[in-house]
Amino acid sequence: MSEETSWLHFTEMQTPNTAVLHKVKRVVYRGRTRFQQVDLVETYDFGLCLILDGKLQSSVMDEWIYHEALVHPAMLTHPHPKRVVIIGGGEGATAREVLKHDAVEEVVMVDLDEEVVNLARRKLRVMHRGAFDNPKLKLLHQDGRKYLEEEEDTFDVAIIDITDPLSGGPSYLLYTKEFYDILAGKLSEDGVMVTQATSTCYSRECFTSIAKTIAATFPIARPYRAWIPSFSSEWGFVLGSKHHDPVKLSARTIAQRLRSRGVRNLKFYTPRLHRYLFSLPKFLEKALRTEGRVIRDGEPVFMPA
Ligand code: SAM
Repeated sequence: MSEETSWLHFTEMQTPNTAVLHKVKRVVYRGRTRFQQVDLVETYDFGLCLILDGKLQSSVMDEWIYHEALVHPAMLTHPHPKRVVIIGGGEGATAREVLKHDAVEEVVMVDLDEEVVNLARRKLRVMHRGAFDNPKLKLLHQDGRKYLEEEEDTFDVAIIDITDPLSGGPSYLLYTKEFYDILAGKLSEDGVMVTQATSTCYSRECFTSIAKTIAATFPIARPYRAWIPSFSSEWGFVLGSKHHDPVKLSARTIAQRLRSRGVRNLKFYTPRLHRYLFSLPKFLEKALRTEGRVIRDGEPVFMPA
């Protein structure tokens, strides 16, 4: 946050050489938790925005693109998702989308930072829409990797909605082969996982490496992407699956699953869009073949800024 110009603004560095500047109308909250710097600001173009360690996490104007793109492809790839785990997901909007599927019996959300979640509970109702009060949701505050190491039960779907892998940040060890091995052990025999996988433009090495690491862990690995206006970038996601392949799902099956699970009020995701999300341009297909590497605890990848 800075007042160096004549007006208050927030500048997000995409790389050390490229920045996106948002003019700020109002600062709602500024603080530092045990884990990260937290800013909640109202911007002119994107409304209320949650920023962690200088990185925009979500804006009210378009959080639904990110959250629907993250949640529904994985949820619909699994034919009967009953138990779901969300790692991260501070704003509660990922839980909101998961809970739209009536078939779900239990959602465990594990976010490291209780202060961020409490702030979201109080100030971001427009995002979580009461998801934190849903009796199907169990909310825990601990490191997501440690939780999965110690958890005995398995899950049908795992949604990894954590901050970008920043050097010194709390999440970079949740993008490694060692982490995905732990996660695979906690998924049911036909389990599905998905993770946000950073920018396909500004951090392509992260995106391609996350895809390679998931491909080294799961029999099926499918990278996909969606344009997020407030991130000023196309955003990457990677779905890993033990049995079901998201690209083999027909629009008809998706429509039927959405109906039978009572999923309503979507603003972004449609059965027709599903295929498109997984259809990558030629240069990105090539990058996924030729770039990136398997990420290890001892050799992590970091966002460039
Ligand atoms: N949309 C986001 C983005 O673009 O990066 C992710 C949003 S969500 C707010 C990220 C959450 O991940 C935060 O609430 C943070 O506390 C949580 N988180 C970070 N590291 C974590 C860890 N090791 N275990 C569990 N939660 C973690």
